[in-house]
Amino acid sequence: MQIITLANQKGGVGKTTSVLNLGAALAQMGFQTLIVDSDPQGNATSGLGFDKRAFSPSVYNVLVDLMPIDKTIRPTSVPNLFLAGAGVDLAGAEVELVPALARESRLKGSFASIKNQFEFVLIDCPPSLGLLTVNALTAATHVLIPIQGEYYALEGLAQFVDTINRVKKALNPSLDFLGCFLTLFDSRMSLAQQVQDEVKKFMKEKLFKSIIPRSIRLAEAPGFGKTIFEHDAKSRGAQAYLDLSREILVRMNYLCELNQISERSNHQDSVVVGEIA
Ligand code: ATP
Ligand code: MG
Repeated sequence: MQIITLANQKGGVGKTTSVLNLGAALAQMGFQTLIVDSDPQGNATSGLGFDKRAFSPSVYNVLVDLMPIDKTIRPTSVPNLFLAGAGVDLAGAEVELVPALARESRLKGSFASIKNQFEFVLIDCPPSLGLLTVNALTAATHVLIPIQGEYYALEGLAQFVDTINRVKKALNPSLDFLGCFLTLFDSRMSLAQQVQDEVKKFMKEKLFKSIIPRSIRLAEAPGFGKTIFEHDAKSRGAQAYLDLSREILVRMNYLCELNQISERSNHQDSVVVGEIA
């Protein structure tokens, strides 16, 4: 089971949008995929069409009551895509966990109950470096960072990379930095190229080639409780998330080769390693 945490302590950089649409892209390729909403805002939960006020039991019970995560999982409207949703109480978890035993590894512990059920787990985090994000980093096999393609893109990133390294050292030595990718990218913005160059200079080969464009279709999909593939499968945003998911699969050695990322939507000629051919 590959557990990928999408995190960045900056708000509004496209974490949730990316969790939802990467999750849907992987599910549509046939991978059993679970989204874990570990953000009290519950945007991943509502973005999949669930009422976050009524989602119970939820990730809150996993963290605070040590409930096995399988008790909270529900199927979504996308085949192969499942959700462990955030409940309204999750905001309290950050405070309630402070005096708790093994407070950083509660999410990790809960995954024992789903060990062989999913190929991919994607965890959505709040825009902070608190205990919810630390739990998500401790539970993960990989961390993936969305970076908004704007002028202050790199601000705070060094601090976040430092946090990842500290979690790795103290709590999760096998945590792998999968990489980062640009989101909300507007190529018409005169600074766009400069921002891309800066991020590339800082992240080097860790920066994925696929770029998620700023697109109205991506912004409106969660309002309908849909992923981009249900809302507008032919849109640029859908194609970008499909490209990114394939690039991630190559980096994780699921795909042998990457046939022209720009060769849109024709992903049948890729070779998938293992049983999932
Ligand atoms: P938070 O830190 O608050 O959890 P986030 O990092 O999860 O935010 P999102 O919620 O995914 O960010 O995105 C922030 C806003 O930008 C949302 O309204 C979302 O619909 C919109 N958005 C995200 N990605 C795109 C995009 N590529 N094009 C246009 N709008 C986008
Ligand atoms: Mg979010």
